[in-house]
Amino acid sequence: MIRISILWAAVLVCSLSHVVAQTDYYFPAAGKMNPAIPTPEQFFGYAIGTQHTRHDRLVEYFKTLDQLSDRMKLQVIGETYEHRQQIAAIFTSVANHSTLEDIRKKHIAAETTGDTKNIPLIIHLGYNVHGNEPSSSESAILTAYYLVASENPETLIWLNDMVILMDPNINPDGRDRHSHWANMHKAEPAVADPQDREHNEIWPGGRFNHYWFDLNRDWFPAVHPESVNRIRFFHYWRPYVQTDHHEQGTNATFYFDPGKYSSNNPVVPPYLYDSIYPKFGETFAKAADKMGSLYYTKEAYDKLYPGYGSSYINFYGGAGFLFEQASSRGHVQETSTIPLTFAFTIRNHATASIATIRASLKEKKMLMDMRRIFFQQAIDQAKKSVIKGYIFNDANDKTRTKAFLDLLLLHNLDVYPLAQTTTVNGKKFEGGSSYWVPTEQTNYIMVKTIFEKDITYTDSTFYDASTWSLIHAYGLPFAEMKTSVPLGEKLSTVKMPVIAAVTPSDYAYVFELTDYNAHKAIYHLQTGGAIVQTAFNPYSIVINGKTKKFGYGSISIPVQQQNLSADSLYRLVRNVSSSVQIPIYSVSTGYSVEGIDLGSSQIKTVKRPEVAMIIGTGVAATEAGEIWHLLDQRLQMPISKLDILTLGRASLSKYNTLVMVSGMYALLDKNITEKIRTWVQNGGTLITLKTGSEWAIKQGFTKERLLVDSSKSAGNRFNYDEAQDREGAKGLGGSIFKVDLDTTHPIGFGFSDRKVSVYRNGLTILLPSQNAYSTVAKYTENPLVGGYLHPTSAKKIKNSAAILVGAEGAGKVIMFSDDPNFRGTWFGTNKLFLNALFFGGLMNVPGRGEE
Ligand SMILES: [Zn+2]
Repeated sequence: MIRISILWAAVLVCSLSHVVAQTDYYFPAAGKMNPAIPTPEQFFGYAIGTQHTRHDRLVEYFKTLDQLSDRMKLQVIGETYEHRQQIAAIFTSVANHSTLEDIRKKHIAAETTGDTKNIPLIIHLGYNVHGNEPSSSESAILTAYYLVASENPETLIWLNDMVILMDPNINPDGRDRHSHWANMHKAEPAVADPQDREHNEIWPGGRFNHYWFDLNRDWFPAVHPESVNRIRFFHYWRPYVQTDHHEQGTNATFYFDPGKYSSNNPVVPPYLYDSIYPKFGETFAKAADKMGSLYYTKEAYDKLYPGYGSSYINFYGGAGFLFEQASSRGHVQETSTIPLTFAFTIRNHATASIATIRASLKEKKMLMDMRRIFFQQAIDQAKKSVIKGYIFNDANDKTRTKAFLDLLLLHNLDVYPLAQTTTVNGKKFEGGSSYWVPTEQTNYIMVKTIFEKDITYTDSTFYDASTWSLIHAYGLPFAEMKTSVPLGEKLSTVKMPVIAAVTPSDYAYVFELTDYNAHKAIYHLQTGGAIVQTAFNPYSIVINGKTKKFGYGSISIPVQQQNLSADSLYRLVRNVSSSVQIPIYSVSTGYSVEGIDLGSSQIKTVKRPEVAMIIGTGVAATEAGEIWHLLDQRLQMPISKLDILTLGRASLSKYNTLVMVSGMYALLDKNITEKIRTWVQNGGTLITLKTGSEWAIKQGFTKERLLVDSSKSAGNRFNYDEAQDREGAKGLGGSIFKVDLDTTHPIGFGFSDRKVSVYRNGLTILLPSQNAYSTVAKYTENPLVGGYLHPTSAKKIKNSAAILVGAEGAGKVIMFSDDPNFRGTWFGTNKLFLNALFFGGLMNVPGRGEE
């Protein structure tokens, strides 16, 4: 329905000259545009490219288009942490809109039937996943206007033959952060000097979402609501094409696919890389040539990792496209040639958007063939696969098992409860509570991607990770099966098993530390006023007439030694148990059947963690963000974020634990360093990750040592143009390793297996301690589990320390060589970090005399 208000009519008359100018610049061959549709300039009151459009204004514009036009429907698919709406627009003809659900169903069915006749082609355009790459969303606004207003016969054909989905802003929180920055520093006339503040955002910048995560890595781990909502939308529609619009360095040009051939993903049929990308590339090149815009292809950017917006779809038989535009990062900026304007960067993305639509329809047959070939090959591969499926479960950690199941269902995999108890290689999987993922299923390629750890690469330079097996990230006991098991009813939702309500006790309550939520339980018991204790040795105790074993780190809550009444304590324990979904047992005696009693000196009172983390300039935002997110979202526990610039004024005595993730820490001068040292000496626990650990060692906070790199050999001579590949291969983009963990150490509490998978994407090499008790986790002799590893790195990593614990005065320094919270998805190693946080202050460092 077309409703044109008096206001719009007035605006239209006033700014008609600008309409022509703007449309001419961005869409010179547009032809007639419907005057009833306000141009972005009429709506916003400024020309696109002269200002950064706030997300709420963008949403308003899309809502207005929805009201004024029957070509577009708008959906709100969710909201971000900062309560910004996530929107998705659907563009198609009025006729198609009236039968849209029918079209969608036929399109989904065609995936397996191959009957694609008379079904409009469904594609998806996505923008601005990195918030400070703003030209993309501005181009989404223009593309939306074009699709709604254009009377061009070509546009009408598109709307007739296609359903075009659009997410104009994938990362609203990050985008607004950057937009405010650019707008608040905008000068008139604009300042192109790259040194001007407008072009230099302060930490953490707008790239990331609220918790400083890179959402363009999150399509696979799906940690954040922004990702979960758009992955649901993706599977609801299963488009054939998905675009992802970005910005790169100011002195670059424009990049589009085909990308670097040698880093294609080997599990995806080569048809995509050999046929589709080059064909689309021709159309993109034609559009860019016409504008005289410089560009490059084939040299860079991999599509290996399934968590990018331009690769996720490749794992479901579609084609993902990456566009990278040189950034004006601000309204105009000097380059090595002429100044780059914001408008120019927007025009390239808008042109690429239109070119994508054009190419998609032109190559419709190819896209449909691709999907058919993809699923056919997947079925063939699955039938030939020696592995018939995967069984997994952690009977002692229902929370972690459920989180993994939720992820499998989000990625549209078929999962079945395991009917019969099955033992594989000595590992027992209980029927009823274990799960089975058969390889023979439609989305076999994704099954392979989630469970397999080895991929054969043709290249060894990685833009990002070289392995991403989620079963290892979740650290769940699993087995590959060479025979099938009978299928029961397919899992549709995951419910937590009902746990028995806690019964009142006059003596004590106990629970195990094995569940992912155990630390959350401790924290909430503590904030509720309870005194909570942890066992440094195991014990067995009789509960309801049955002996039950409690391992290292198990938690006990005595009833009498409390400031709370027995009644209040009972209510607290019962509430915490039901909210964290962990069974808490009441015991009537402290006398153990085996091991220590509940009054042993080996049972120690846990201090409530009062945690601060140093953040700001020079600190790795994503590592810091992972910790903030872990404590906020999963434990509902506060952490004070201390800015490095104001650390000199901060009082550290308020905290018993301080976290330092990777960072350069050049801003920590001698005074602040001494302040931290004194705080540790007075009993503080300093937890450091990766280069944060290097900083602590270099400052002499402990006697532990780093490996001095002696691998640089003199005298070699190579060709200059080989340098990038040769040197790049030596880096560690990200691989999975096995470490041996001391599960009797407080940092290893709650782990049942000494062999733990860890993720490494850096080269902080800690030497094993000279103190026999201080190397809590150590890389094994052959530690690589999956991913790429250069021989020079392999030599350094094997037998090195993964976690060291040192003492400094009355305090501790706990050093990790890696990031146990990587991308919010390493559920398997989060516990190592949480143990450091909760138990760091409790442990001794025995044998200090030997240091
Ligand atoms: Zn980007």
